[in-house]
Amino acid sequence: MSRGWCSPERYVQGPGEFDNLKFYTDKFGKKILAFIDGFLYDEFGKRLKALYEEEGYVVNAVAFSGEVTEELIDEKAKEFCEDRPDVVLGIGGGKTIDVAKAVGTKLNLPFLVIPTIAATDAPTSSLSVIYRTDGSHVGEFFYDHSPSVLVVDSQIIAQAPTRFLVSGMGDALATLIEAESTRKSNTPNLVYHKAGGFRQTLAGQAIARACYESLMKYGGFAKTACDQNVVTDALEHIIETNILLSGLGFENNATSGAHSINDGLTAVENSSKTMHGEKVAFGCIVQLMMECAPQEKLEEVLSFCMEVGLPVCLEDLFVENADSNIQKIAEASMHSNWGNMPFDVTTDLVYSAIKTADAYGKGYKEVWNIKHKKQEN
Ligand SMILES: [Zn+2]
Repeated sequence: MSRGWCSPERYVQGPGEFDNLKFYTDKFGKKILAFIDGFLYDEFGKRLKALYEEEGYVVNAVAFSGEVTEELIDEKAKEFCEDRPDVVLGIGGGKTIDVAKAVGTKLNLPFLVIPTIAATDAPTSSLSVIYRTDGSHVGEFFYDHSPSVLVVDSQIIAQAPTRFLVSGMGDALATLIEAESTRKSNTPNLVYHKAGGFRQTLAGQAIARACYESLMKYGGFAKTACDQNVVTDALEHIIETNILLSGLGFENNATSGAHSINDGLTAVENSSKTMHGEKVAFGCIVQLMMECAPQEKLEEVLSFCMEVGLPVCLEDLFVENADSNIQKIAEASMHSNWGNMPFDVTTDLVYSAIKTADAYGKGYKEVWNIKHKKQEN
């Protein structure tokens, strides 16, 4: 199998980068179509228009809310196919970004991604997640193009609720854990996914390691900075980790067990109470348990989760640890990526791994809490 790599053409990150957007779009032309998250529309619609006040620019800002459906993508592509823009922007969270990617691709236009939170690694990737209007998941649209430019304004990310950043760390936590398993199984990555993908590059593997190391080093400090709504170097490191390293890591190495558990967890009650990265974090513990990882490795991950506030057991995900629930999660997870593991995974194996991960995580949390209370007193 040949090796393959993909990434956005450019990536920039820093406080105030939003105000430099015109510099990044000028290369493509003066007609801008921007999708903006509905609840951010007032603020960012105004800020965006102010950047392009000069003569000759046309800015069409569209407020987006609801689900990313095939119908909506077709409708928007049709609406703008006569009077074509030069470039499409997605400003906001994952869904708005996914609409911009999909419409940009349909119209064969470059697209720029401007995330306002660092909750997942979606901004970097060349795919959109598609839903039905009732919120149920349809599948993914895979593209042969990555975003042209990713513009991350760290001041905007610092002002968003910390839970988004922490959830992004949960998503990033899976990058190395999954990459190591897909390397062993020689699973094709997501580069030109429609054509079957490629073998991992050394670059992809190095990025997955950097992703994990950065979380361990800077995660706690970054959370504190975000709690205070200020930008520090640690926060900058974690924003880059959550968005760039984690995004490049999963696309260039593929996902496996942790994301399968995320998918399984969406089948049980209270699933909507937790975010993607929070479910993935527990998925990491399940995968490590199944792989019989060294105790130090498992406890490093658990300690990290406790420090930043990620789930370590089912109770933290508002899921009752009843056998029927665990069975349901295990069964639903079998439709996902367990096939990318280097050994055969059965529903029974997943069931046992969830049960032990939950018990171990719960026990670890109790001891951790006692220890940290003692230190406080
Ligand atoms: Zn993910």
